Amino acid sequence: VRNEPKNKFMKGSPEKAEVKQELNNINSQLNSSGPYKVPMIINGNKIFTQSNKQQHVPFDHKKILCSYSETDKEHIDLAIKTALEAKLSWENMPFNDRAAIFLKAADLLSTKYRSKVIAATMMGQGKTACEAEIDAAAELADFWRFNVKYAAEIYSQQPSENSPHVWNRLEYRPLEGFVVAFSPFNFTAIGGNLCTAPALMGNVVLWKPSPMSMYSNYLLMQILKEAGLPDGVIQFIPGDAPFVVENTFNHPEFAGLHFTGSTAVFKHLWKKIGDNLEIYKSYPRIVGETGGKNLHFLHKSADVNTAVYNTIRGGFEFQGQKCSATSRVYIPESLWPQYSELLKNEVLKIKQGSVEDFSNFMSSVINRQSFDKIKSYIDEVKEVKDGKQYILVGGETNDKVGYEIQPTVIVTKDPFSKTMTDELFGPVVTCYVYPDEKYIETLEMADKTTDYALTGSVFAVDREAIITASNVLRNSAGNFYINDKSTGAVVGQQPFGGGRSSGTNDKAGSILNLFRWISPRTIKENF
Ligand code: GLU
Repeated sequence: VRNEPKNKFMKGSPEKAEVKQELNNINSQLNSSGPYKVPMIINGNKIFTQSNKQQHVPFDHKKILCSYSETDKEHIDLAIKTALEAKLSWENMPFNDRAAIFLKAADLLSTKYRSKVIAATMMGQGKTACEAEIDAAAELADFWRFNVKYAAEIYSQQPSENSPHVWNRLEYRPLEGFVVAFSPFNFTAIGGNLCTAPALMGNVVLWKPSPMSMYSNYLLMQILKEAGLPDGVIQFIPGDAPFVVENTFNHPEFAGLHFTGSTAVFKHLWKKIGDNLEIYKSYPRIVGETGGKNLHFLHKSADVNTAVYNTIRGGFEFQGQKCSATSRVYIPESLWPQYSELLKNEVLKIKQGSVEDFSNFMSSVINRQSFDKIKSYIDEVKEVKDGKQYILVGGETNDKVGYEIQPTVIVTKDPFSKTMTDELFGPVVTCYVYPDEKYIETLEMADKTTDYALTGSVFAVDREAIITASNVLRNSAGNFYINDKSTGAVVGQQPFGGGRSSGTNDKAGSILNLFRWISPRTIKENF
C-alpha cells in the first residue's frame, strides 16, 4: 500500500482547473436552487425531516452550503433496529469481500470524486485547496486502504502452538451490538475513518457527523454506497448531539464509541456510559481522540529558519483548527531576537481570505462561537497591560464577511498564562522565552503545564538535547516530532493519538485502532 499522492494544484494544472470547476458548480447550485439538502440515511433510505439545520460557509457566512435533516426518536430507533438486522449478513461476509468495498471506495474517492470532495471541504470547512486535498482526498483514501492492510494482518494472527490432537484457533468476531461514531468538523477524513474502521471489522455503525462538515461527510456516504456498502451498515444520522447520545447510549446493544472531539464532551460521554453499565450486554469499547495544547520546544542548537517555518505551518495552517496544532512555543533567550524577528516578518506576509482564491494561505475559523471564543482570549491579552504579555504580531479580527482571525503570536512571561494552557482551536501561538541554561527545567515545566498530551516537537541539532527532550517529554505527546511541526501525521507513517486528557491513544491510522473493534473467540478442538 502506498500513500495517496497529492497534486498540490500547481499553476495551470488540470487538477486545479477541476477543483475550480467543482467550486463553480457549488456556487451555481447555491445561486440557482439554494443550499444542498442533506438527508439522514437509514438502511439505505434517504429521509428528509421537517427539522432543517444549516451549514454555513465560514469565510462567507451569509452563504448557506446545505441544510440537513436532524434525526428524531423514531428514526434513531429505526437506525438501531435496521443496523442490527444488517449486521447479521455483514459480519458473516468474508473479510475479502468487505475489504473490497473500502478499497473501491478509496479508488472512487481518489479519482471520480476527488475534486468534488475537495471542493466541498473547502467551502464547508474553510480549508485551502491543498489542505482539503491532504485531508479529504489523500488522508481518507489512506485510511481506507491502510485499514484493509492492517485488518488482514490481524485476521492472519493465530495461536502459534497446538498440543497433540488439539487444534487451537482464533475466530475474529466484531463487537456484539452496534458502534456509535461522533466526528468533528476539522477533518473530512476523520469522519470517514471513525465510521468505517469499526465497519471494516464487521461492525455496524451509527454515525453522527459534525454539523459543520455535513456536506462533505454526506458525499462520503454516496461514495461508500457506490462502492457497494450494504444498506444499514453505516447509518448517517445528523442530529443534536445530546439527543443522539440519550437515545443510543441507553440501548442494551450499545457496544462502542468511536469519538473525536473535545475533552469535556468525551469525559461527559464516558461518564454516561459508566452510568448505564448495568443495562449493557457487554462493556462498551471507548475510543476517543480529544484536545491538545501542543508544544514546539527549541533548544539553543535549533536551526531558526526550520523552527519558524514549522511554527507557521503547525500554528496557522487551517487557522489552527487541528487537535495537533502548535499553540505554545518555548524559545531560548539566545535565539529569541532572530526567531521573533523572522516569525513576525513571515506572519506579516500571510495572505488570508476566501479559499476560492488559491493564493490565500488562511481563511476563517469555523463559526461564530469559535470566533468569539478566540477573540476573547486575544482581547484579554490586549486589555491587560501589565507587561507580562503582549501581541508580537496579528491580533486583529473581522467578522463582516467571514469569521476571520489574523494569525496571532502572543509573547508571555507567565508560562502558565491562559493562552499557554487552554486549547483555543484557532490561529494563536503563544511564545515563552527561557534562559538557555534552564533547558531541562523548562522542559520539565512544559511537561506539567497542561493535562493534554497529544503532539509535541523538539527543534535541536545537538543530539544530546534531542534525547533529553524525548526523555523528559515521554508522556507529554503521543506524537513526538524531532525537527518537524506538531501537525500532519500521515496514515501508515505516523500513527496518530495521544494520552492523558488528549484521548485513549488508540492511534488512528494503525493496526492498534482496529484491535478495538473486534471481540475474538478462542476455539480449542480435540481430535
Ligand atoms: N491527524 C492530524 C494531524 O496530525 C490532526 C487530527 C486532528 O486535528 O484531530 O495534524
